[in-house]
Amino acid sequence: MLIRIATAACLVLSANAAAQDANLISADAADTARELMEQGLESDTGYEIVRSLTTEVGPRLGGSEQEARARDWAVQMFTGLGFENVRIEPFEMPYWDRGDIELRVVEPFPQNLIASALGGSAATPQNGLEREIVFFESFDALRDAPDDGSLEGRIAYVNDRMISAQTGAGYGPANEKRRFAWLEAEARGAAAVIIRSVGTDSHRFPHTGMMSTPSASSVASDTHSQAVIDYLNSEHPDFNETRIWSSIPAVAVSAPDADQIERIHSSGETLTVHLSAVAGWRGMRQSGNVIAEIPGRELPDEVVLIGAHLDSWDEATGAVDDGAGVGIVTGAAHLISQLPRAPRRTIRVVLFGAEEVGLLGAFAYAQQNADEIENIVLASESDFGAGRVWSLTSGTSEEGTAFLDEAQRIIAPLGIIRGDRANRGGGPDIIPLAMQGVPVFRLTQDGTDYFDLHHTPDDTFDKIDPDELAQNVAAWAAIVWLAADSNVEFRTQDE
Ligand code: ZN
Ligand code: ZN
Repeated sequence: MLIRIATAACLVLSANAAAQDANLISADAADTARELMEQGLESDTGYEIVRSLTTEVGPRLGGSEQEARARDWAVQMFTGLGFENVRIEPFEMPYWDRGDIELRVVEPFPQNLIASALGGSAATPQNGLEREIVFFESFDALRDAPDDGSLEGRIAYVNDRMISAQTGAGYGPANEKRRFAWLEAEARGAAAVIIRSVGTDSHRFPHTGMMSTPSASSVASDTHSQAVIDYLNSEHPDFNETRIWSSIPAVAVSAPDADQIERIHSSGETLTVHLSAVAGWRGMRQSGNVIAEIPGRELPDEVVLIGAHLDSWDEATGAVDDGAGVGIVTGAAHLISQLPRAPRRTIRVVLFGAEEVGLLGAFAYAQQNADEIENIVLASESDFGAGRVWSLTSGTSEEGTAFLDEAQRIIAPLGIIRGDRANRGGGPDIIPLAMQGVPVFRLTQDGTDYFDLHHTPDDTFDKIDPDELAQNVAAWAAIVWLAADSNVEFRTQDE
């Protein structure tokens, strides 16, 4: 009896040991992954894709003519690189336009400031607003302010700073004010709201970004984009100059200008500014997701989905957000497509439209492909610039976790550690898929200076280091190849 138990225990132990040894990934597959890594480090395909997108298309706001040109560009690019099943999946979306903005201090020290409207901002009256500023040290201070009419007819200013971190962990907390300050200010009768930019630089560039509705208090709300569209459809069928997200203008000032406001405020004098903005909703427009594939040789219905977003904010060419991601995932998939034989499973590259303005392409993709989501075996997005990958995180089945443990050992020479094994974050556009049980991984990048550029006019091609981008391509090519050439079940069975 004792012997039997001991034997059974031994079997369990040796099975565990085997699972930890390289038996989920064949020696052949591992060798191919290493070749792909070498090629990735040498390849400039990803870098050239970003150069082409940012030069030939330039800025590409969701729903704009330029975003439509980006879709045409992507179709040509995928076709030219030999991808198959290249297609556009169009969807309708409400279009918001920034227009010009002017912000200046009127009293006590007249001077111009540099500002940018936040996505969803309303316009000022035609001649602008000239109002006193009520200074809030933080978003919490605004939220805790009594509803006593003290903001009536004034402009709320929110000052909190974002903390810089490799993981970008400072973004979520700092971003609360970008998303909801308009709501708190509006509820207290303010005529407008100004925030210190959500960013980590000290340059004179404001950071734009989308605001959120009350119902979108969590970005993971699957009704987020649809709620906006439904609301527009039912309440404002003409869409002309409608003010859905915000009935007041909402703008961000650059960090040095926020410092300036802070200094003037601390002088104790009443601070009055003039704000003029023409931003607003302009009706329904078309956007779309652009898709390309490498069909699998044995299991073509099983899909490893990798993505990036094709749109950018309008004030720059969106090189790090998210031209880099477009270059990285396409460059990686292209390397795999050049192998003598295709992987077992299909690799699908999805370039999502209208991410910046509310993950609209991501939700449209999940809706339009609802029948097929169960075929997606693993998904991830590259949307955190072009900095080096330093960690592999994942949220998959136990078998998938063990597989990715092995895969990490293969990409370790690229300087990549194994990160969190219970992380359901695959990137913003993957949220609607992950919510439906699609397993995810992420190649986490060094984002120490990502928020220096993020959503500013300074997000341009010159900021990308080709060697760092190539390291991304190498890591993506290896992981995507290994997952696509396997038959590992990444999905947790009870989902
Ligand atoms: Zn992005
Ligand atoms: Zn962005």
